[in-house]
Amino acid sequence: MFNLILFGPPGSGKGTQSEKLIAKYGLKHLSTGDIFRSEISNQTELGLKAKSYMDAGQLVPDAVTIGMVDKVINANKGVNGFLFDGFPRTKAQAEALDELLKGHGTEINVVLALDVPENELIQRMIGRAKTSGRSDDADPEVQQKRIAVYRNETLAVADHYRTFNKVVQLNGLGSIDDIFASLCQEIDSRK
Ligand code: ADP
Repeated sequence: MFNLILFGPPGSGKGTQSEKLIAKYGLKHLSTGDIFRSEISNQTELGLKAKSYMDAGQLVPDAVTIGMVDKVINANKGVNGFLFDGFPRTKAQAEALDELLKGHGTEINVVLALDVPENELIQRMIGRAKTSGRSDDADPEVQQKRIAVYRNETLAVADHYRTFNKVVQLNGLGSIDDIFASLCQEIDSRK
């Protein structure tokens, strides 16, 4: 299996690049944000639990998120690999993911981290709000909160994988195709 984490702040382009990467490499896309949004639209118990956190720009509690990821991994045993997008978002999630993958005899191969300056992130969230219908994109206070949560909790995920030499930083500014090409180059050199 080849498992990768696409890492970066909210609005860094993880969703856009993930779509292209799964099509090219046949990986299973595991976006915790997408799963939560789908649970919300189906009005499930999990969705109801997640919604208040998401609307406030806060993280859904680790136990809820990790349990959900565990289920998805177990339900997709035959895949070529996973592309984790928006997960892990805390050090505890990263440690839990490492254990889960170990239980399946596999591991994270690489963490591709997209660098995008904060002012650009805000512009992208404002742009996305117009078409995504995502309530968490439209509100300036929630945007700031998500960026603060990224800085205070999520950057620790990169530190965690840096200790295993698994992190590659890439420029997240430029055309979608140029960024995609640089991601592919890193993957191809490791596969
Ligand atoms: P973005 O694409 O802007 O980074 P996501 O779609 O990944 O945002 O996530 C939207 C919201 O869903 C987050 O602000 C958070 O509330 C919740 N969420 C997504 N993934 C996680 C996670 N791994 N742990 C906790 N909460 C999460």
